[in-house]
Amino acid sequence: MASNRKLLLLPGDGIGPECLGQVRRAAEWFDRRRVTSFELEEDLVGGAALDAHGVPLAEATLETAMAADAVLLGAVGGPKWDDLPFEIKPERGLLRLRKEMELFANLRPALCFDALVAASTLKPEVVSGLDIMIVRELTGGVYFGEPRGIETLPDGTRRGVNTQVYTSPEIERVARVAFELAQRRGNKVCSVEKANVMESGVLWREEVQKLHDAAYPDVALSHMYADNCAMQLVRAPKQFDVIVTDNLFGDMLSDAAAMLTGSLGMLPSASLGAADATGRRKALYEPVHGSAPDIAGGDKANPLASLLSFSMMLRYSFDEGEGADLLDRAVETVLNDGLRTADIMQDGMTEVSTSAMGDAVLAALDKLAG
Ligand code: NAD
Repeated sequence: MASNRKLLLLPGDGIGPECLGQVRRAAEWFDRRRVTSFELEEDLVGGAALDAHGVPLAEATLETAMAADAVLLGAVGGPKWDDLPFEIKPERGLLRLRKEMELFANLRPALCFDALVAASTLKPEVVSGLDIMIVRELTGGVYFGEPRGIETLPDGTRRGVNTQVYTSPEIERVARVAFELAQRRGNKVCSVEKANVMESGVLWREEVQKLHDAAYPDVALSHMYADNCAMQLVRAPKQFDVIVTDNLFGDMLSDAAAMLTGSLGMLPSASLGAADATGRRKALYEPVHGSAPDIAGGDKANPLASLLSFSMMLRYSFDEGEGADLLDRAVETVLNDGLRTADIMQDGMTEVSTSAMGDAVLAALDKLAG
């Protein structure tokens, strides 16, 4: 049995604690079944941390996160804290965590479960069997580049400036993540930029190609302009395996790809940092959805995005591909059995609560593991 892994759970606000409650049960299942064992710690983030400590991320929590093998976060924010100044809003806790952990690669899978094909706005044949991964650069590009700001020119006109900037190491490290992911999947990478109109795009294309030729010649690499990629994602998304792109294009393309699969309650994500000497990467796993204050506390939230984030953690932080496959299949089984939380409810299916969905996933795990 694999040795203890330090896992920090940060449930946060709103539906975060309800969803991570089901993750805790899954982690305990893996422990019990002796697949892998976890040393689970739990702490506060976001509004919950603000209420307890006056800051959205306490220093001690940050220290625990930095020492953990992986961090799993629920969600942060809610109306109670909406009027606070920007610097201490709950979201700052999450942003600080991402920054301090230097998480430069954001992994957003878009996976369409057969049972939910009808939830997509696209035709079933376009999305059925869809399984793509978007790797978005998360710490550079136009969201961070200098100079930036709004200035007033001598003639009184105002001018807003943001700068798209990438260095070769920034491009190389995120491309490396994409190539390595592709090797474990369909072995195809599509690198996306606007090299036709942006110098930073020319550099992006050249660096990705250079890395490919030097280190990953076995992976099929293609290049695509971002506007075409947006079109191709809705026209024929199954042509893609791994897409790697910058912060701005990745922000948009990952949201577009996410909606191919229907529901916010089904979408996991991972953010990875640089590998240390032992190959271990700092990593934060979280569902894409927010704290859903409209349904919080009602045992109504869909916990599957959180459970699928836990599955990503098994796969990418702990190299437990078999455990991850098992959990993914358990989720697929409960969907095939017709169980649905309210957000993905369809005619003829059975509506269940958050905890009943957790029960069903655990029962499916029991059955699949024999
Ligand atoms: P949201 O994702 O919380 O909710 C959008 C809609 O989707 C709501 O109707 C909600 O009920 C539903 N929904 C979301 N997740 C669901 C789930 N797992 N199961 C069932 N239904 C689900 O987005 P919002 O309403 O724009 O934001 C609410 C709060 O969450 C805000 O304070 C926002 O800042 C915060 N937020 C946090 C994160 C994060 O922690 N990463 C991300 C987005 C928004």
